[in-house]
Amino acid sequence: MHMDKINVKTGRDSSYDIIIDDSFSFLKDALKELYPINDRKVCIISDTNVGPLYLDQVKESLNDVFSACTDISFNAGEASKNLDTIKCFYEHLIKERFGRNDVLIALGGGVTGDMCGFTAATFLRGVDYIQIPTSLLSQVDSSIGGKTGVDNAGYKNVVGLFNHPEFVYLCSLFLRTLDEKNMLSGGAEMLKLGIIGDRVLYRDATAYFKKFHLMDYDTKEDLESLIMRAVKYKCRLVEKDYREHGPRRVLNLGHTFAHAIEKCSPVPVSHGNAVSIGTVLAARIGQALGKTSPKVVEGLVEDFTAIGLPVSTSLDMLTLLDAIAKDRRSKDNAIDFVIPVKIGSAALLHLDMDQFRKLALSL
Ligand code: NAD
Repeated sequence: MHMDKINVKTGRDSSYDIIIDDSFSFLKDALKELYPINDRKVCIISDTNVGPLYLDQVKESLNDVFSACTDISFNAGEASKNLDTIKCFYEHLIKERFGRNDVLIALGGGVTGDMCGFTAATFLRGVDYIQIPTSLLSQVDSSIGGKTGVDNAGYKNVVGLFNHPEFVYLCSLFLRTLDEKNMLSGGAEMLKLGIIGDRVLYRDATAYFKKFHLMDYDTKEDLESLIMRAVKYKCRLVEKDYREHGPRRVLNLGHTFAHAIEKCSPVPVSHGNAVSIGTVLAARIGQALGKTSPKVVEGLVEDFTAIGLPVSTSLDMLTLLDAIAKDRRSKDNAIDFVIPVKIGSAALLHLDMDQFRKLALSL
């Protein structure tokens, strides 16, 4: 049994812990430390896949910590990440007579975490929430940094706000039930973190996921170490820029095209798969600008392909460009766009929209 803590600073006087537990043993202790008197109610928000797997186990750790425990679940998937679902959450909390003192827990992947954080920020002008991320993507990326929100009118994360949790409780045991598609989706975000700032993380995560795909590898310890390194790197970026006005924006590598692909695809595409394609397209744009060497682009394509991540899309580029033009990242006929310069370094460019269109159409 082992537990680590990483403290993330979110302002001059505020911070929260990421608790990394390898055996699901320390959740109760962490909650008791935060809430020593059991005078609060708690509501666990989860989806229809994660709830049946882990609700009972998590509830056991809540005994004696909270005065009452309730839960609410939504249909798993990005399609639920909208204001209608949030309205159901509000109605549940009102029915259960939740007050300002009470607490929400996000038990699930990035969709659950983003919606729970948004609900916690807006219900009664703000209640506490705790993140228990259960997908790889949510463990290494979405549960850290306080970005919360929902999709609206076909646009990803267009309604939302920054709201940091009281703590994040991260246990890799949850990943035992995650399917390969979603493991790779999280792998894509992990590789992204390596590409933008940690060459060694990229190298090791690539080696890990190449073997993972072939399924001939006992993975637990390697995976835990990779998760820890990815989390530490993301925390460093968040601390430098906790409201994403500056250096943290490189985390959007691959996301301009990814959001357009997710929006335009007739069938659901996992976020990680969309980020994978988006990262390769960003590298190709970097190459067309003379800022990314062809060797880097070829290396990314080779690695992603060997891992089983997609590197291209059959969607029409004009359709994608149309979606990008309407995206919140492009305004005043210009776009902020992240390219990988080399493995371990990325650049945020401010490109004229016409230039961006020409580059994208030339790929
Ligand atoms: P998700 O929450 O939909 O989870 C993916 C799938 O895995 C779902 O079907 C879920 O039910 C299932 N699942 C999760 N944990 C499981 C487990 N332990 N066992 C079995 N099944 C499990 O999506 P995701 O991939 O975790 O996250 C993607 C979302 O995160 C997107 O909405 C994206 O916009 C958001 N995101 C947010 C941030 C941020 O900073 N807030 C960053 C990156 C991505």
